Amino acid sequence: LLLVNQLERMFQVGSSTLHVLKGIQMSVMPNQLVMLKGRSGSGKTTLLNCLGGLDTPSKGEILFNGLPFSRMSDDERTHVRRRQMGFIFQAFALMPLLSAWENVELSLRMAGTPRSEWKSRVEQCLELVGLEKRMHHRPFELSGGEQQRVAIAKAIAHKPLLLLADEPTAELDTGMSAQIMSVFQNIITTENVSICMTTHDPTILEVADHVYEMVDGKFI
Ligand code: ATP
Repeated sequence: LLLVNQLERMFQVGSSTLHVLKGIQMSVMPNQLVMLKGRSGSGKTTLLNCLGGLDTPSKGEILFNGLPFSRMSDDERTHVRRRQMGFIFQAFALMPLLSAWENVELSLRMAGTPRSEWKSRVEQCLELVGLEKRMHHRPFELSGGEQQRVAIAKAIAHKPLLLLADEPTAELDTGMSAQIMSVFQNIITTENVSICMTTHDPTILEVADHVYEMVDGKFI
């Protein structure tokens, strides 16, 4: 599903060049859960941003679903990203004044899903993450783990092929993190999605199909 070849990312900071990604090779197969681990500052978020088209690599290639993702125009890449990728962040990233239901619906609206499909799909996604009894709660009326489950429902609503998650369990305790990981395992089979996530948490690594460890911009 995702093939990364010799990816590099440099940042120009004042007069010096910061070499953050140094020749990354990796792949994510369909229905795989892939984790990127590594110290703070090793380059995990920079890589995830490149994989999701939120940042542009300086060199190298990303193939996504057979398409030359890293060589597309910004418009083409945005189109692919909106329709075929979903994002989950550490801090849940929900709209604070909207209910769980409305948050998920918003994502369908943004993806251009026909309005006639919204109701059943929102219900289905919130049930998948176990929030059928919390559909009309707003974020401040939910626990951290529940908010992250709304964020997952939101990220999968438009049926993406790939979910990219940056430290999705960082704000949660061990029990909650385990719950989020079992939701991930569940949606990989039921929704036919692949997941690539960064983590600092050694307790969740064992559920990954593959773990890449990053040290100073390279995998070891
Ligand atoms: P953490 O686990 O703390 O989130 P990380 O492994 O995700 O860390 P990155 O956020 O990818 O690390 O950052 C890697 C390095 O790249 C850091 O030294 C950071 O300062 C630098 N960096 C990231 N983005 C930029 C940018 N836009 N401009 C300049 N430097 C950047």
